[in-house]
Amino acid sequence: MSKFMLRELNGNDVAVADEAIDGLEGALRGNLLTPASDGYDEARALWNAMIDRHPSLIARCAGPADVATAVRFAREHGLLVAVRGGGHNIAGNATCDGGLVIDLSAMRSVRIDAKQRTARVEAGCTLADVDHETQAISLATPLGINSTTGISGLTLGGGFGWLSRRYGLTVDNLLSADVVTAAGEHVTADATRNPDLFWGIRGGGGNFGVVTSFEFQLHPVGPTVLSGLIVHPFEDAKNVLHEFRSFTASAPDDLSVWTVLRKAPPLPFLPAEWHGREVVILAAFWAGADHAEGERVLAPLRAYGTPIADVVGPHPYAGWQQAFDPLLTPGSRNYWKSHDFKKLSDGAIDTIIEYANRLPGPQCEIFIAHLGGAVNRVPADATAYPHRDIEYVMNVHTRWEDPGRDDSLVGWARSLFDATAPHATGGVYVNFMPADETARVPSAYGPNLDRLTALKRKYDPDNLFRLNQNIRV
Ligand code: FAD
Repeated sequence: MSKFMLRELNGNDVAVADEAIDGLEGALRGNLLTPASDGYDEARALWNAMIDRHPSLIARCAGPADVATAVRFAREHGLLVAVRGGGHNIAGNATCDGGLVIDLSAMRSVRIDAKQRTARVEAGCTLADVDHETQAISLATPLGINSTTGISGLTLGGGFGWLSRRYGLTVDNLLSADVVTAAGEHVTADATRNPDLFWGIRGGGGNFGVVTSFEFQLHPVGPTVLSGLIVHPFEDAKNVLHEFRSFTASAPDDLSVWTVLRKAPPLPFLPAEWHGREVVILAAFWAGADHAEGERVLAPLRAYGTPIADVVGPHPYAGWQQAFDPLLTPGSRNYWKSHDFKKLSDGAIDTIIEYANRLPGPQCEIFIAHLGGAVNRVPADATAYPHRDIEYVMNVHTRWEDPGRDDSLVGWARSLFDATAPHATGGVYVNFMPADETARVPSAYGPNLDRLTALKRKYDPDNLFRLNQNIRV
C-alpha cells in the first residue's frame, strides 16, 4: 500500500508506490520533504500569506542534476509541478496542493568574473545574495527594490529597479542561462545556443523550463550611491505628483525617482506627529559615480515645496537595495493591482490621490515606478518582455493581517484599478499579476504572445510548467 497520494496534471489524485518515492529521495543530492518532514511548513510557506497550499512532495534541489531528476519524476508520473525560486510572487504559483514543488532555494552560489564583469548566479539566490557578492568589488546589475525577492522569478518576468533607467531591465543584462527542459534535458540558452529559448526566458516567465543558473553582465556601481527619500505632506500631493511628472519627464538616465503614497511608517527621521498620517514619498536614486552632478540634477526636486524630511545623501548601494525591506516583510496578506502608463494624465493623478486619501490600512501603498531610459531603447520584440514604450508602472500594494478584511481590502485595490484603467495602456508587468488575473495574460505578453506560444509548443507541448502566468498551446 502506498503512503503517497499525488496530484496529477489533470487534477486527479493518484497513489504512487513508496518505492518510487524512495527512489526519488535516493536520487537527489538535496532533500525530499513530505508533509511529515521537519521543516515542511517553513518550506511550503510563500511571501504572500494569502497562499496556503500543501504540496505532497518538496524536492529541495542541490543542483541542476536534482532539478532534472525531479522534472523526469514529474513527467513519468504525470504530476502537477510548481517551481520555486524566492517564493515571492504574489500569485503564489511557486507552490501547489498535492503536487511536487521543485524548490531551488538551496541553490545560492554566486561566482563573479571581475575581469569580464559578469556573475554566474544560481537560481535560488535572493537579490540580496547577488548584491552581496557583486558589491564586494563595486559591481551590480539591475535588480528589484526588495532584497528578499528571488532572482529567478524576477529575471524571468523582466526585472526592474533603481539601475534600470541606466542599464535596462534585468533581462537586458542576461548573457546566458542553464535550463532543464520539460523533457528533463540540460541545455544552455544564450545568443548562439538555443537563441529562441534565450529570447523566451527574457520575459516569458517559467513557461519553458527550469532555469538552474543565470549569467549576468555587471556594471560599476557604488559602493556608495546618492539616494534617499523626500517626504511631503499629503495635503501637497497634487502639486508634488505634478512636479514628479514634469521632473521625471526630463530626467537623465542616471536618475530614477519613484513615488509612494502611504501612511507614514515610524521612520526615525520623521517627526513623531507624522507617524501614521498620509504622506507622499519621493524615492530618489542617482546611478552615476559623480555625486556632485547628481546633487545638481536633483536640486530642483529637493527645493520643491515644503518637505517634512529630506534624507537624500550618500548611502551604501547594498543598503539602499534593502531600504524598503522593512515595509515588505513576508507573512502578511497581500493583493496587488498594477497598470502601465505612457504618461501620468491629470485624471490618473487625481484618481490616485482620491484613493490614497482613503487607504484601507497602515501597510497599504500606491507605488509609482519611473522606467523609460535604457529600458525603452530595446525593441519590443528583442526579448519576450514587450512593454518598451511605457514610462510609469503603478503597483497597488494592498497589505494587511486579518483574513476577515480580505474582501474590503481586495475591493479597494480593484476599485482603484478600475478607476485608473482609462488612463493606462492596458498592458501589465507579468511579475505584478495576482492569481485572479489569468484573463490579463495576453496583455502581459502583448505582441510577443504568438511567438511565445510557438516556443511553448516546442519546449513544453504538454504544458508541464503550467503554474505560472501560463502560455497555453
Ligand atoms: P517565485 O514565487 O519563487 O517564482 C515565481 C514564478 O516564477 C514561479 O511560480 C515559477 O513559475 C517561476 N520560476 C521561479 N523560479 C524559476 C526558475 N528557476 N525556472 C523557471 N521558472 C521559475 N519585480 C521587479 O521587477 N522589480 C521590483 O522592484 C519588484 N519588487 C517586488 C517587491 C516585492 C515585495 C515582491 C513580493 C515582488 C516584487 N517584484 C518586483 C516582483 C517579483 O519580480 C516577482 O514576484 C518574482 O516572480 C519573484 O521571484 P521569486 O523567484 O521570488 O518568485
